[in-house]
Amino acid sequence: MARTNGQLYKRLRREFKDEHQPLNTPCWICGQPTIEWDTHGQDNSFELDHYHSVSEHPELETDPSNFRVSHRTCNNQRSNKAPRLGLGTLSQTYYPQQPNT
Ligand SMILES: [Zn+2]
Repeated sequence: MARTNGQLYKRLRREFKDEHQPLNTPCWICGQPTIEWDTHGQDNSFELDHYHSVSEHPELETDPSNFRVSHRTCNNQRSNKAPRLGLGTLSQTYYPQQPNT
């Protein structure tokens, strides 16, 4: 969402994938070399994971040394362990008619 280096990130992601696909690099989370490199949106589809989360280290989003090979599902499950703040949703319910001052 707050990605400011979208073009750069896309290029680096592609280069990262091109580097690891011939090696069939295992998922760094579960260790299984069963990545589906050419599918999208499948459980085993390739996903670029960040060793240091981008939310905590946005400057590392485009640092290839922070990139890791992962399954889509492993990446998602890992992300889910870091709860996201839901302040906006709560505020809309709780203060429906009070503008922020
Ligand atoms: Zn995995």
